[in-house]
Amino acid sequence: MSQKLIFAVDIGGTTCKLGIFDQHLTRLQKWAIKTDTSDPTGRKLLKNVYDAFVEQCNMLNYHLDDVIGMGIGVPGPVNFEKGIVNGAVNLNWPSKVNVAQLMKEFVDFPVIVDNDANIAALGEKHLGAGQDADDVVAITLGTGVGGGIISNGKIVHGHNGSGAELGHIRVDHDQRFDCNCGKAGCIETVASATGVVNLVKYYHPKLTIQSQLLPLIKQGDITAKDVFDAAKVGDAFSLFIVERIAQYIAYLASILSVTVNPKYIILGGGMADAGHILIENVKTAYHQLAFTPSQENTEIVLASLGNEAGIVGAAGLIKTYILEEE
Ligand SMILES: [Zn+2]
Repeated sequence: MSQKLIFAVDIGGTTCKLGIFDQHLTRLQKWAIKTDTSDPTGRKLLKNVYDAFVEQCNMLNYHLDDVIGMGIGVPGPVNFEKGIVNGAVNLNWPSKVNVAQLMKEFVDFPVIVDNDANIAALGEKHLGAGQDADDVVAITLGTGVGGGIISNGKIVHGHNGSGAELGHIRVDHDQRFDCNCGKAGCIETVASATGVVNLVKYYHPKLTIQSQLLPLIKQGDITAKDVFDAAKVGDAFSLFIVERIAQYIAYLASILSVTVNPKYIILGGGMADAGHILIENVKTAYHQLAFTPSQENTEIVLASLGNEAGIVGAAGLIKTYILEEE
């Protein structure tokens, strides 16, 4: 087969990352354009994306005839079968946008759309920390908590697309903090960057040990990063907080290990960049918690693609759902 091309798009609130890959997912080009949020129908944004690919192909002497398909990641809930996004706050899309259909006005190759957490998981499965496995789970620990489950090489969507909405598993049964979803006690309220701050505010009045964080807490501008940095140098209160967070993540991991039995549970996102201190605590708690047979050969690892996971996963949509289906 001569060189075929895959177009990959990772749409974010401020920039759209774009990439051109070959059929083996070797990246040939990557660049970014500004996200146009002025049009709530989404048409303008998608036209800009299409124009950017045409311009890039002209420069590189690539032909649209060689394109196998376009994978698109979007920050919002997606109907995978139909390629419809059910609103995306960050893009100023208040209601449904049929991304696949709009893009098909410009192109005649397949267009596949999925949410950003799912494509990040698929990216890690293809070229990242899960690349030798068909069963992986990626948990993104950022401002919120997102998740993607790859089972048998395919993304788990479930019957209405809510499969792998891992951020909304209730782990805090006391329901101390409200969640954006309308409920309380979701893992997002205790194991995201926001969750770290929630826990600090909750526990610090009960604090009986010295902590270097006290001045920051009193000023009211403590961040998750401060807590991880202090934990790394042995601050006892910060270590206590990190252990709490690790318990919650380990609990989620133990549920996943008996439901999908992944080879890898991959932790990514800004919080995972804290690295060793969090992952070691998660591993310890997980081994105490999880069903022993389901733990065998399951590894908890850090994501390896960083911000690239989305664009790789968008290309991965075409490899997984077009090329490997043939
Ligand atoms: Zn929730």
